[in-house]
Amino acid sequence: MTNERVWQPAAEFLSGSVWLAGAGPGDAGLLTLLAHYALKNADVILHDALISPSILALAGKGAKLEYAGKPYRGKKVSQDAIIARMIELARAGKKVLRLKGGDPCVFARGGEEAEALTQADVPFRMIPAVTAGIAALEYAGLPPTHRQVNHAITFITGHAAGEEEGNLINWQGIADGAPVLVFYMAGARLAEIAAKLLAAGRQPDEPVTIISAATTPDQKIRSISLAQAAASTIQPPSPAIIAVGAHKKWQ
Ligand code: SAH
Repeated sequence: MTNERVWQPAAEFLSGSVWLAGAGPGDAGLLTLLAHYALKNADVILHDALISPSILALAGKGAKLEYAGKPYRGKKVSQDAIIARMIELARAGKKVLRLKGGDPCVFARGGEEAEALTQADVPFRMIPAVTAGIAALEYAGLPPTHRQVNHAITFITGHAAGEEEGNLINWQGIADGAPVLVFYMAGARLAEIAAKLLAAGRQPDEPVTIISAATTPDQKIRSISLAQAAASTIQPPSPAIIAVGAHKKWQ
């Protein structure tokens, strides 16, 4: 076994560097102290579409806010353009905060952005955050794991569940793999996903909880069965997390 060097991230936000931080799912109270410090000290904040106004309001007075989102619907900035802009700003000596919704590397492209910064020799620091799949469940009163319910949990993107890309997902493996399945980016494909899980042997009476705009003042929760989900035409308000099989509500 080799002894890997322990990576020591820069404790201070240095000029000419990028902090790739998650902002959590919406509630400003879930920000990490590091993300809060970066908001206060950044020169430029390149932010996603999903960042709450209450979080952007915490930016330091001198910070310039730049939109760098790629929403499912709405104004998109390309990934290449975001990367090029981060590098350009860092090389110009700015403290650049790249602020992403939820965790920066969970169904987000923080890993690719970090690779590009490494290749460009731009110093950066990665700051993990609360991911929507955890926060949404807990704000809906559902523990992601519970000793009497599940010893495993799966996080899945519903984005690849469409007809064209459907084969990228091993539905049987997913259905068998864990009692609790948490889907991101799946709102538009609820019925299709539920049907695939039923076909793979999941039970019709399993609970499906749809949590929209979790942790924000617009949070909405809807609970149905897997059979109802397969037959429904529900288009939950976006963004939404869909949890299959999680129960033991404490509320
Ligand atoms: N990096 C993010 C996920 C980005 S993918 C994270 O770690 O949370 C975008 C998807 O995240 C949305 O389609 C939705 O499924 C989910 N999402 C993000 N914020 C959410 C919120 N406040 N409530 C419900 N779902 C949310």
